[in-house]
This record gives sequence, C-alpha cells and structure tokens, in this order.
Amino acid sequence: MRLSQLFTRTSKTVPANETARNAQLLIQAGFIHKEMAGVYAYLPLGKKVLHNISQIVREEMNAIGGNEVWMSVLQPKDIWEKTDRWDDKKVDNWFKTKLANGTELGVGLTHEEPITDMLPEFVQSYKDMPVYIYQIGTKFRNELRAKSGLMRGREFLMKDLYSFSRTQAEHEEFYEKVAKAYMRVYDRLGIGGQTYRTFASGGIFSQFSDEFQTLSHVGEDTIYVHETKRVAVNQEVYTDEILAQLKLNKDELVEKKAVEVGNIFSLGSKYADALDVYYTDEDGQQRSMIMGCYGIGISRLMGLLAEHFADDKGLVWPENVAPAKVYLVRLGDKPEVIKQADELYERLTAAQVQVLYDDRNMRAGEKFADADLLGIPYRLVVSDKTLSSDSYELKARTATEAKQVGQEELLKTLGITGQ
Ligand code: ATP
Ligand code: MG
Repeated sequence: MRLSQLFTRTSKTVPANETARNAQLLIQAGFIHKEMAGVYAYLPLGKKVLHNISQIVREEMNAIGGNEVWMSVLQPKDIWEKTDRWDDKKVDNWFKTKLANGTELGVGLTHEEPITDMLPEFVQSYKDMPVYIYQIGTKFRNELRAKSGLMRGREFLMKDLYSFSRTQAEHEEFYEKVAKAYMRVYDRLGIGGQTYRTFASGGIFSQFSDEFQTLSHVGEDTIYVHETKRVAVNQEVYTDEILAQLKLNKDELVEKKAVEVGNIFSLGSKYADALDVYYTDEDGQQRSMIMGCYGIGISRLMGLLAEHFADDKGLVWPENVAPAKVYLVRLGDKPEVIKQADELYERLTAAQVQVLYDDRNMRAGEKFADADLLGIPYRLVVSDKTLSSDSYELKARTATEAKQVGQEELLKTLGITGQ
C-alpha cells in the first residue's frame, strides 16, 4: 500500500483520553480510533494486525478439526432462560436490547446457548459426533471497568470454539488437543515463552479450568509460575490443599502479573441438557453430550502484543502479525529515484511481500520516525545515494544501524527466492 493513499496518519502527541500504553501507541500510530471507553474502531493498519492474529488462530483451529461459523449477535431470550443465564443477577455483564414490539433480546456475550440450540438440526446420532464449531466475532460485555485499552473492551473480538463429544474420555482427548493448539498460537505470535497454562477455578463439572496467561506488568491477574514445569496457578485457586493435589511446591512458585489471553473449560452436559439437546448412541439410547468451550481474546492479544513489543520509538511488531513486512522509504523526488522505488515496490508486491510504500513528499527524519512508530519489521531506503552505489539501505526495526545491501542480499533477507 502507498502511504500517499492511506487516510490515517501518525500523531506526535500521546492521546489525552487514554491511559493504557497499548491504546496510546496504537492511536498515535493510527491503528485504532477510540469511540468511547472500551470501544475502539480498527483502521486499515490495525485491521490488518487483527486479521493476521485471527488467521493464525483460524489455521490452528482448522488443524484440529474446527468448523468455522459466524453466529448472530442478537440473541433470543428463551434459550438463555432455559440455562438460567438470562437474569442479570446470574450474568451481570449483559447488554440487552428490545425489538420494536417490546420483545427482549440479548446482545451476544458468549455463544454456548445459540450453538447448542442449533445443533439438533444437524447432529442427532453418535455417528455425527464429535463436532467442533468455532467463530471469530465481536462480543459485547458491559464490563465495569474498561481502562486497559484493547485488553478489556466492552466490544471486542474473540475466537470461541465449542466441542460436543460423546464421552468424557473423548472430550478430554480433544481438550488436550486444544491446549496444544493454543500454545502453537502463542508461539507463532511470539509470546510462547512468556505464556503459561494456568490452573484456574472450574465449575460443576471439573475442578479446574485452564487459562493461558502471558506475563505482563500490566496484567490484571496474579499467577504463581513454576518455571521448569511450565505451568502456573491462578491466585483464585492458590491454596495449600490445591498445591498439594497438583504436586507443586510453594517454594518453587514465583508470583507474577499476567494477562489472560485464552481459556478452556469443561462444561459437562450442563447446557446441552438444559436445552434438551441429546444424541442417540449405538443402542438407540438417548445420551447427554459432553461439552467444552475454548476462548481466545483476539483483540486483547493485539493490545498485549502492542504493549509487549514496543520501545521508546514506537511499536515493534513480530513479523507474523505486522501490518506489512517492509516499510519502503523513497527519499527525494528525482525521476530516477521515483522510478527505482516504484519498481522495487512492484517487485516486492509481486513476490507476495507486504510493503508500506512511503511515497509521500516528506523529510527523511519524518519518514524514519513513522517507520519506527508503525513498527514495521524492515525499513528499506531508496535514495540518490543508494542509486549511485547500486545498493539499498536496509534496517531491521530491532537493529540500531542500517546497512548497505546489494540486490541479492536484500531478496535473501526478505525471504524471496528464485527471482
Ligand atoms: P476475564 O477473566 O479477563 O474477564 P473471561 O474469563 O470472562 O475474561 P472468557 O469469557 O472465557 O473470558 O473469554 C475468552 C477470552 O476472551 C479470555 O480469555 C480473554 O482473552 C478474552 N476476553 C474476555 N473478556 C474480554 C474483554 N472484556 N475484552 C477483551 N478480551 C476479553
Ligand atoms: Mg477469566
């Protein structure tokens, strides 16, 4: 994309109405726009990042047999009454609305009920199972406090997967598969090393749920980390009895602040039974379905990555999520320079490399400052100087110095082969 065509621009001032570092940076860089507390719009570059994170999650969910759907945000009240989750005393962060005729509706905050309720249309027999259904979509929650930027929104993007298994054993096998898939997601996002599978409180059907917690000084959660075992315990279940049960020694645990970037939960047959959804087994007997639900906070992850991968000059995106791989800077407006920069832009684009082409008439210092603030992995300069030396100037966002590279080295560094 040419920056001359991008409608957003960077800002030198830190937004006054925002305290969270992740949102400050993303607003300054023009990735997001704050509508109100806990509600953000995603602008072209921000939308790209959100898409890249979603795509990694999607690939990993597809790899374990997930079927992607797109459920509705508006929810009929009756299915939530059947599971006893409609009452504001039971679920306190609902947004609700009404039809013109007064009929009450819920504004989707999670989707166990609608997905389960839809199931019997397609799944009736043991032969149709197990099934794994997920979506990546907007959730609405009337959060009491929304002060952590993208990390706690009132409107936010979540991946939620629901599994329906025939037996507890079948459920547990899939549950472990999801846990592994989640770690692959966090690895690909560059936060695997700081992310711990964490024992957290469960429900009626299981003693624990598993959270995936990424260490961060701005985290809202307190966890106790066992570094060598690569597990952690959430403060909410941190008791002597539970530690003994988990065979964890208190002296080997370290208290840390962390952000919950995902969680997985065994639900037993609670919701399916309440909605009268069963399957018939090999003997024609009616059986309960064993359910699990599995969430990943996509927009929360974007906030976390912005917070985590940044320095005093701005964002420093990992390559897998960056809105582009290369920030191509054209310095000066001599016809030869324009020609070479244009050609390079076309060539990289043709090789499937995402390029932000700074073709604006601005000073070098301003362009470099933008390249840093936007956090694009590579800055590539075409100028009079590079033209006369038959080379390019390349600098990784994380490097301190730029270096002169020839064509071959440039293509190699950017992972372009066979051209
Ligand atoms: P939390 O404990 O942070 O309030 P939760 O336990 O209610 O979250 P779930 O309902 O299981 O979360 O949602 C799945 C995932 O969605 C969470 O692990 C988190 O990453 C993300 N998430 C939850 N609430 C928010 C929010 N208000 N803003 C952004 N992401 C959220
Ligand atoms: Mg939680």
